[in-house]
Amino acid sequence: MKDIELYRQLLGIKSPWTVDHVSLNMEEVAVYVYLVEAPDSTWCCPTCGKSASLYDHREERIWRHLDSCQFHTYLVAAVPRVNCTTHGVQTADVPWSVPHSRFTLLFERFAIDVLLATQVQAKTAGLLGLTSSQVHDLMERAVLRGLKRRDEDEVIDHLTLDEKSFQHGHQYMTVLGDANRDRVLDVCETRTKDATSALLTETLTVAQRNGVRSITMDMWEAFMNAAQTIMTQADIIHDRFHTAQYLNAAVDKTRRTEHKTLLQQDCSTLKNSKYLWLKGPDNFTDTQRERFADLRDQDLATAKVWSFKETFRSFFACKTVDDGHLFFTQWYEDAVSLGNTHLTKVADMLKRHLPGLLAYLRHHRTNAMAESLNSRIQHIKACAHGFRRFSSYRIAILFFLGKLALYPQESS
Ligand SMILES: [Zn+2]
Repeated sequence: MKDIELYRQLLGIKSPWTVDHVSLNMEEVAVYVYLVEAPDSTWCCPTCGKSASLYDHREERIWRHLDSCQFHTYLVAAVPRVNCTTHGVQTADVPWSVPHSRFTLLFERFAIDVLLATQVQAKTAGLLGLTSSQVHDLMERAVLRGLKRRDEDEVIDHLTLDEKSFQHGHQYMTVLGDANRDRVLDVCETRTKDATSALLTETLTVAQRNGVRSITMDMWEAFMNAAQTIMTQADIIHDRFHTAQYLNAAVDKTRRTEHKTLLQQDCSTLKNSKYLWLKGPDNFTDTQRERFADLRDQDLATAKVWSFKETFRSFFACKTVDDGHLFFTQWYEDAVSLGNTHLTKVADMLKRHLPGLLAYLRHHRTNAMAESLNSRIQHIKACAHGFRRFSSYRIAILFFLGKLALYPQESS
């Protein structure tokens, strides 16, 4: 029959398999293509590849394939079990799919492309007529084979460790990034020392861990302890992204305290000024610039702390570690002599982390990549309307940001 030959060619079905018959189901708007093997076919063991004898057939299974003219298309076959003299009775491999998948290779590849293009799992499920759990399983299989295919000999010399809030409240997960290749290596559910240590040892081989030269991270003791224990040779770096957060917080806390005191004296100078202190003059409108200039002319504690925050940016422009050391010593002395509790607290913390700050001047590695990964992770979370389970969140992050070889077959 002509349709049998047409489908055989369309699907690329090769010996020992052939199309037995094709059935059109108008109610389901679906085509079922029934495959059988030739009677005298030879088989191989799926484990060792040596020839094996036919044992029996499993029950019929169905694989979703690419649509034919808007008709969902399914392949149907009873897969043989073969008997290998070494490995015993096993289900034979079929050329159109991978074990445990209910999709053909081509469909799975197409679904991965749709996911990468839409970035939204629900949309992909809708477009392809799949359930959300089918999409999840497909992504999980893709990520697992991608992780298995990673090159364990690859040198990864600069890492980033970053925290990312997960769900509401104060639950944080840890994101391990590869700064040179702009990708997430893996994530773990908490940000404790033990969890971070496990993340580092399970993601990187011993040789890879020994090859790491630097790790950019927040001034978070658990990250620092884990990294120092596991990768003693690697420099820990804190950059301007990390210091800006703390210095901004000192400015904001000072503003709040000062605003309260001024209000008690019927002075509303600092009213609605929060944004001005945090935004930075580079992004001001003309009106904002005028008001800010006026605020800075007044004798305000907020303005003084703000000024220390601004000055600290110059630290990261120092040409050498010695210059950085000199700059910091002077800045620290001046900052502490101001006598502002919030600023002193941050200055003391920066002093404790001075080796990490000076390491920036040696490596010139910033946290920009981790910051960008962080916002892309946020995007994934928003597209999925959040994740109930951490494991699903991890799979989505690695699928979209792991730069993994996701397709069922590496080349084709
Ligand atoms: Zn075998």
